[in-house]
Amino acid sequence: MMKSNSSLPQSDEESGRFEIVSCLSCGETSNRDFIFAQDDLTGKPGKFRFVKCSSCGLVYQSPRLRLDPIKEFYDNEYIAHRRKTNGGWLAPLLSWVLDGVERRKERLTRRYAQIRTATEVLDVGCGAGGFLQRLRERHGAKTTGLDFKDLSGHPSLVGSRFYCGIFYEQNFNGKRFDLITMWHFLEHDYDPAQSLATAGELLADDGRLIIEVPRLDSRTAAWFGDRWPGLQAPQHTILFDREHLEKMAKSAGLQVVEYLPYGAFPAYYYLFTGVAFKLLRGRGLNVRRALLPYFLGQVLLFPVMLFERKLNLAMQTIVCRKAS
Ligand SMILES: [Zn+2]
Repeated sequence: MMKSNSSLPQSDEESGRFEIVSCLSCGETSNRDFIFAQDDLTGKPGKFRFVKCSSCGLVYQSPRLRLDPIKEFYDNEYIAHRRKTNGGWLAPLLSWVLDGVERRKERLTRRYAQIRTATEVLDVGCGAGGFLQRLRERHGAKTTGLDFKDLSGHPSLVGSRFYCGIFYEQNFNGKRFDLITMWHFLEHDYDPAQSLATAGELLADDGRLIIEVPRLDSRTAAWFGDRWPGLQAPQHTILFDREHLEKMAKSAGLQVVEYLPYGAFPAYYYLFTGVAFKLLRGRGLNVRRALLPYFLGQVLLFPVMLFERKLNLAMQTIVCRKAS
């Protein structure tokens, strides 16, 4: 059976880059195949296995690339790290699309947390820092970003403290945060339970933690199967349905105060890329060439996307606080 998935580790040398993972939630080592996926976004070679825990049912990647070799998959092709200047004549459009995501994050956040001067905000997996820049410039928030890739030289991060590395290995010197955000971070994490516990320790008593991840029990996941953009192998190490996301947060000592079957990240992106990945069958998406069709599709589907919050299309968000 493994022969047909020839890009999983074959040689000893190759398997040195991979590690077998026990369940990231309950520690169980026994599991069964769930789905095989590849890096449909860039078309890089490799087929990766997601398994379902035999005990708690969590879906996660095993074997997975170790932390060092995974870094080559977070290059400039990676959307969260994309510079805004490489879209050619469509650069303003790309810039508008990317800024739109930051605007939506800001709006969503302000429904659950007050952002004002001196509000301490930590964005875990901050990428190039556009969200933090927005909160700092428009609301005077004190912003801190963390990413495992060193993006400290990026202009959007000027004015923010920046930590580079693994979240739960950092020393924040006893600092507490009024707001911690994880926008599409947790599904990349190598130890999400520990990250959630760390976030709980760093939260101020009345602070809020906002987590957005792709939703495994969503419509696009059912429609696109092994081409579902939410699989994003090998970067996504864990695939959350609603049940497991909430359960893991509670196990980490957090109280879930709100569950949303959508996120700041537009579900339309998954609709578009899901169709594109189906058509391209692993050849990789040329972002420059895709920009115009992306924009046209967005105009076309605008009436449908007005109901995005009710359709359970792709994303989910939870708002947490410390359990009392
Ligand atoms: Zn488990």
